[in-house]
Amino acid sequence: MLLPKYPLAFLPTPLHHLTGLSQTLPYDIYIKRDDQTGLATGGNKTRKLEYLIQEALNTGYDTVITAGAQQSNHCRQTAAACASASLECHLWLNGNEPETYQGNLLLSYLLGADLHFSGEKAKGRELALQELKKKLDAQGKKTYIIPVGGSNLTGALGYVAAMAELKEQMTEQQISFDYIFFATSSGGTQAGIMIGSKLCDIKAELMPILIDKTSDFEVPLQQTIHDIITAYNQNSSQSVNISLNDIPVIENYNSAGYGVITDNERRAIKTLAQTEGILVDPVYTGRAFYGMLNMLENNDLPKNSKVLFWHTGGTPALCAYTGYL
Ligand SMILES: *Cc1c(COP(=O)(O)O)cnc(C)c1O
Repeated sequence: MLLPKYPLAFLPTPLHHLTGLSQTLPYDIYIKRDDQTGLATGGNKTRKLEYLIQEALNTGYDTVITAGAQQSNHCRQTAAACASASLECHLWLNGNEPETYQGNLLLSYLLGADLHFSGEKAKGRELALQELKKKLDAQGKKTYIIPVGGSNLTGALGYVAAMAELKEQMTEQQISFDYIFFATSSGGTQAGIMIGSKLCDIKAELMPILIDKTSDFEVPLQQTIHDIITAYNQNSSQSVNISLNDIPVIENYNSAGYGVITDNERRAIKTLAQTEGILVDPVYTGRAFYGMLNMLENNDLPKNSKVLFWHTGGTPALCAYTGYL
């Protein structure tokens, strides 16, 4: 299934060895730099938005709405993608308007998005987006809804394509991986990675570290991911065989809840920063990197395994939080 895409990212993103970190642990560790996709400080949503924005343009939409937390990387990248494609962008953000804008919220504002704050008693986001669409359509706009995190089949295609990109780099650099770690939250990235792994015959075991509390989900994440895979199979000539029970989600590092910084994230951020000069964020990649570090330090994986950490971005959130000392 190959759809046209609206170019937003600098691809391929770098794949490189973490020499400093690999010296401190009995593993060979690599990193895939989707924090360097290039769209207004990058991140994994850029790959999804290449397909989502193209779909909006193909269908004649002129306005895009999506939703997220105030520090949503997805909302910031959507605002940037809309600016680039000359689409009007509206963001439905959780909570009350803060006195000062920082991090992703500040960038979304600078990128020209219309910001709507849900207030304390937030309705379901789905309902809120439908109501906002109604209002904007009544003003004569044609409004395209991008789901939270861009996680539907169209968005996930970005990560199906990313696996083909990874496969090519693995061939070029003559490496294969035993494990691939990444942060999982709304599921589109993982769905794409799982489909792409099958299509490209990448045999690495996938290690998706769940960021949110399990109780935050109305529908279990595995089900959402399975639904995207089913939709892929219904729309593609080449289907992949993945059952609900085959969908891994590692739930050992999420107990503090979404966006709460603990000693784990603090240590992960400082470790990668001070061994490699690479920044991870407190919400997603810091938590996922901690999960990987913890498993490697405990020798949970066979010694000398080749391990890939997929850096999915989030850097602007780093400066919107405090409490790193
Ligand atoms: C959104 C996001 C993720 C998770 O991707 P999903 O497709 O929502 O599971 C991981 N890392 C960062 C930095 C993100 O912004």
